[in-house]
Amino acid sequence: MTGGLRLEAPAGVAPRRTRAERLALAADLRRVVADGDVLSDDVELEVYGYDASFMAQLAPSVPDVAIVARSEADVVAVMRYAAANGVPVTPRGAASGCAGGCVAMHGGIVLAMNAMNRVLDVDAPNGQVTVEPGVVHARLIEVLAPHGLLFPPDPGSSRMATVGGMASTNAHGVRAVKYGPTGAWVLGLHVVLPDGTLIETGSVGSRAKQSSAGLELTKLFVGAEGTLGVVTRLRLKLLPRPKARALVIAMFDVLERAGEAVQAVFRAGISPSAIEILDARSLRAANLYRPGLGLREAEAMLLFEVDGNPAGVRWDAETVVEAVRELATHVEWSDQEAQIARLWEARSVIGAAVGVLRPGSARAYAGEDICVPVDRIPEALRAIQDLSARHGIPVATYGHIGGGSLHPALLVDGRQRDDVRRAIELADAIHLLALDLGGTVTGEHGVGAARAMYMPREHGPALDTMRAIKRALDPTGIMNPATIFPEDVPPTPALDVTLVPGGR
Ligand SMILES: Cc1cc2nc3c(=O)[nH]c(=O)nc-3n(C[C@H](O)[C@H](O)[C@H](O)COP(=O)(O)OP(=O)(O)OC[C@H]3O[C@@H](n4cnc5c(N)ncnc54)[C@H](O)[C@@H]3O)c2cc1C
Repeated sequence: MTGGLRLEAPAGVAPRRTRAERLALAADLRRVVADGDVLSDDVELEVYGYDASFMAQLAPSVPDVAIVARSEADVVAVMRYAAANGVPVTPRGAASGCAGGCVAMHGGIVLAMNAMNRVLDVDAPNGQVTVEPGVVHARLIEVLAPHGLLFPPDPGSSRMATVGGMASTNAHGVRAVKYGPTGAWVLGLHVVLPDGTLIETGSVGSRAKQSSAGLELTKLFVGAEGTLGVVTRLRLKLLPRPKARALVIAMFDVLERAGEAVQAVFRAGISPSAIEILDARSLRAANLYRPGLGLREAEAMLLFEVDGNPAGVRWDAETVVEAVRELATHVEWSDQEAQIARLWEARSVIGAAVGVLRPGSARAYAGEDICVPVDRIPEALRAIQDLSARHGIPVATYGHIGGGSLHPALLVDGRQRDDVRRAIELADAIHLLALDLGGTVTGEHGVGAARAMYMPREHGPALDTMRAIKRALDPTGIMNPATIFPEDVPPTPALDVTLVPGGR
């Protein structure tokens, strides 16, 4: 198996088209949606060949045609055409995904959902909002703020990610430890099925905040990564915005003590809204990138955020400080918004900052999203450091330690073929480590094409149940065909590394 990929296209999905066939496809589609919304120019299509994944950087895959959807009617028309003609369709939000999920590896149509970006209805009395899928997360938060309402999921990609992409990957974020993933906040969806049928999940026309009526179809489409249909509308549950928050920052000279500190805080009866970890390399990167931060150097730093009412927040913060005092080398807290923002900045710059650790290299999103049991985090962090040394690829690790989610940032010099090979092998080793520790290869970013090869080991016979659901809804396999299921992922020529998942 090369890069976990196979050679022939799966049944039901047409092979890549010639130029003449691509132009004919575009001409056909111009009769289905508005002329200007069908992109077939080679240069325009280049843009649609990527997401943030290392896989797509190495082997971008340009679609035959891209369509900018403007309405549900557009999506229905495109899916009807695609179903009738056996053309693969790959939905795409902001392409901030890290697993190649929105990349059309079989060609066909990329269906860009980001122009469907209206907030349709803020229903404050019923604590919900109805939106189109292309609304960017940060904008939704801004629109809700004057109403005193909050949509709690909060990915680090808030300024890029669309809510449709978030629901489709069941995105988490720093506050998932208290508020859960995106899926916990989706009350209902409009979905266009692969045959072009439009359905509404969560009861037709409902404004109820709970329901026990029938199979939970909403949950089925959340996290399906566009493999079962196209999300065209979302009804999202909201919370009143917490009135206050505080941040506790704690430094550790021994990784294991950082792990113990998390347990100590839970034992003290506190449910922080975020618990983040930055390892020594991440701290160094943050200081080099933004010297004004003046972070102490340590084996690890933990950030605990607590939120709620002002008196409760103060009590919670003081209790966190007491719980970790014996374990940490330094601990402090603040409920001053300017100071909190400064401390959070250290966390928010990490993604960009890690590049400074190795001039000439860039951060590769590969093996970047494992999740392990919370009590095995110190073990995982040490093992990642060992693997980094063994493969000769520097890694800075940070993540949502409260939920066990870790983001190893691999620093790769893409100009060096050997560096790329070692990075792919290291990412594979990190994925296998997560499975060995009783975790998952993806805590929040999703499977896409990049992690499909691990699904048989991760799910066992349950993967066949997923396949059966996929076949029932998408019998000809046109809906985002190179995602989740390993047998559907085509070969990627640039990845000439032999990986044997589960073989070691
Ligand atoms: C710097 C950075 C920080 C990040 N931080 C986080 C984080 O904290 N938490 C987290 O969970 N993720 C994070 N991510 C990953 C990424 O932002 C999320 O996966 C996000 O939810 C993807 O949204 P998107 O709109 O970019 O989707 P895309 O990347 O465009 O698509 C992702 C998947 O969803 C499908 N899809 C998109 N829209 C639709 C639709 N309307 N209907 C059906 N399927 C659809 C696509 O086909 C694809 O399979 C981060 C990424 C980056 C680059």
